[in-house]
Amino acid sequence: MPYAYDDQNIFAKILRGEIPNKTVLETEHSLAFHDVAPQAPVHVLVIPKGPYVCHDHFALAATDAEIVDFTRTVGEVCRLSGVQPGEGGEGFRSISNAGEHGVQEVPHFHLHVLGGRPLGRMVA
Ligand code: C5P
Repeated sequence: MPYAYDDQNIFAKILRGEIPNKTVLETEHSLAFHDVAPQAPVHVLVIPKGPYVCHDHFALAATDAEIVDFTRTVGEVCRLSGVQPGEGGEGFRSISNAGEHGVQEVPHFHLHVLGGRPLGRMVA
């Protein structure tokens, strides 16, 4: 097992109900909630409920049901947030930071969904 999951990370605590969150959407396998320090008018984090450290870990280790649920939850979050380009919204950015070079703070896989203002060109 290449990834050691730390069940004391803050998102694990949120999933156990030990820390409050502002939920946007909860499904069988996923949770979406507002980021506590939003970087844009829309800044929602989507996380799987399973113990996955980062995106590649999730992509390779999660079940098909978890992956489908997560992907659909991201789409629903975009729809609920009104940022879908072509559906009346003006677009969004989805980002996942992983590991040291990706400057990942919380070691539980999460996708940032950002929108509600022009985000500028992505810088590496
Ligand atoms: O991708 P990265 O791990 O760097 O981002 C973690 C994100 O989790 C930050 O945007 C931070 O504001 C957010 N956070 C949160 N609620 C917490 C702790 C962190 O939304 N209780």
